[in-house]
Amino acid sequence: MLARWGTIVRCGIDVGAFAMVGAGAVVTKSVPPFHLAKGLPTEAIGKVCACGQSHWPLGIPLSDLIRDCCRENMSAETFAIAERTLDRLRGGQTTAA
Ligand SMILES: [Zn+2]
Repeated sequence: MLARWGTIVRCGIDVGAFAMVGAGAVVTKSVPPFHLAKGLPTEAIGKVCACGQSHWPLGIPLSDLIRDCCRENMSAETFAIAERTLDRLRGGQTTAA
């Protein structure tokens, strides 16, 4: 998770792997992995790939982001971590696909 300056995350709220939260956001509900959220209260507004680039629209498939953007922008080790995280999401959580 990357949280910008002044962000408040309420106790018990999850911010997923590779997710980003905007400056001054008050996070009152969980932010799925690879999502960009901002606002009061926080809403997911886009996706964030593993190398930290923001992408719109929200419905873009994560597998496309990882394959098309991150492969050239990341070390092989970090890319492997991103792929493993994506594989884990495919196995259990459908909200981040
Ligand atoms: Zn990327």
